[in-house]
Amino acid sequence: MPIDATQPYDDANIFARILRGEIPARTVYEDAHALAFHDINPQAPHHVLVIPKGRYVSWDDFSSRANDAEIAGFVRAVGAVARAAGLVESGYRLLANTGRDAHQEVPHLHVHIFAGRPLGPMLA
Ligand code: IMP
Repeated sequence: MPIDATQPYDDANIFARILRGEIPARTVYEDAHALAFHDINPQAPHHVLVIPKGRYVSWDDFSSRANDAEIAGFVRAVGAVARAAGLVESGYRLLANTGRDAHQEVPHLHVHIFAGRPLGPMLA
């Protein structure tokens, strides 16, 4: 079910529970600002999700409320995850579904990293 990007943060969402260590994840990276783990239903040979540690519902929530250190830390973490996986030479795709029409399902901001095969032209 797609979420409303303007809804209040729900501390029971699945990524909040992963951040609190209540449910397991295949973690590939963690620092002060971000956690990255494999998507449970991969859509490419390499499919990792990067999430900020703060309580942000969506890209809109994060980009409007997070402070500069959180934003810089998160953006650098996304790049670091891709570099650590050796994806820079072959390339990768970033995606942050935001709200209903984009079919965002989990109400905690996440950036998808897709890689590992030619991904074709950008989806509309
Ligand atoms: P969205 O449509 O951009 O919100 O994507 C949510 C993503 O979270 C989907 O690709 C799901 O496969 C993924 N996902 C849902 N639950 C889990 C989980 O427990 N661990 C890892 N990935 C998950």
